[in-house]
Amino acid sequence: MALGVDVGGTNAKVAAISPGGQVFTHTSLPTQPERGPAAFVDDLCRLVDTWKKLHRFRVSAVGLGIAGDVDAEKGKLRYSPNLHGWEGFDFRRSLGRALRARVAVANDANCAVWGGYLTELKKKPDHVIGVTLGTGVGGGLILSRRLFHGATGTAGEIGHITVQPGGEPCHCGSRGCLEAYAGSYGILRTARTLLELRPAEGKILRGLCSDLELLQPSHLTAAAQEGDALAREAWAVTGRHLAVGLAGLVMVLNPDVLLLLGGVSRAGRWILDPVQEHFARQPFRVPFDRLELRLAENPDAGCIGAALLAAERGR
Ligand SMILES: [Zn+2]
Repeated sequence: MALGVDVGGTNAKVAAISPGGQVFTHTSLPTQPERGPAAFVDDLCRLVDTWKKLHRFRVSAVGLGIAGDVDAEKGKLRYSPNLHGWEGFDFRRSLGRALRARVAVANDANCAVWGGYLTELKKKPDHVIGVTLGTGVGGGLILSRRLFHGATGTAGEIGHITVQPGGEPCHCGSRGCLEAYAGSYGILRTARTLLELRPAEGKILRGLCSDLELLQPSHLTAAAQEGDALAREAWAVTGRHLAVGLAGLVMVLNPDVLLLLGGVSRAGRWILDPVQEHFARQPFRVPFDRLELRLAENPDAGCIGAALLAAERGR
């Protein structure tokens, strides 16, 4: 059995994964990043002990997907906006010793895309671009059926390509990044700006969420579904920025499939239609005609991908 851990700033999803990528059992642990990474590793080890006694399985590999810039070679986190003080901690050594398992550490979006590729795409296309749409926007590149890491392991940071020079501020410190428009905080900023500019519009949206501080992308989806023109426009703005970023990647990498994952992708057609419309307008047709746009549905893709990356590295 391989353990897959998807470490977020608030909670970590933990799952025991069979060699075939099936979830055997799963749970969630509070990350509590302020206690430091060693305390989190202790919690994880206690959970594994409990599972071993309960289910009588052996954990041979542990994969950790962490939201941040990860040095996969050394098994360390280089930078994360949500896990202050965790930088430089040697997860590979600490978990490897405690659990007597081989350990892989990777970026969480890379893990989710790898998990999505293994579980959602039955035909295993050669080249896939995966994009994770959540609070932030991450990604992963599968080239010739392998996860591509790049020179420093940073490859696939799709959220931080510029789609609007000098545009809205991004959590990374730059401006005009794709994430600043297609991450949930960017989408909500777009919606709130539209609501401010047009106080007479957005009635259905305002009815679904009267306190705009509590606005979520799911409210925008529900309002768009019910015919709210302002909510539909917020999705159109989001989709157009996403489309510009993705069209550039399609020209560079010529993928078979573009896979969208993560909570925001549940907006479905509201985010997909503007992307497809932009792609349909591209004069350089061949790479876009060949391309398949897919929404991933497996919510455990992050854990599955982390676990299978760890299992694979030891072979
Ligand atoms: Zn950025």
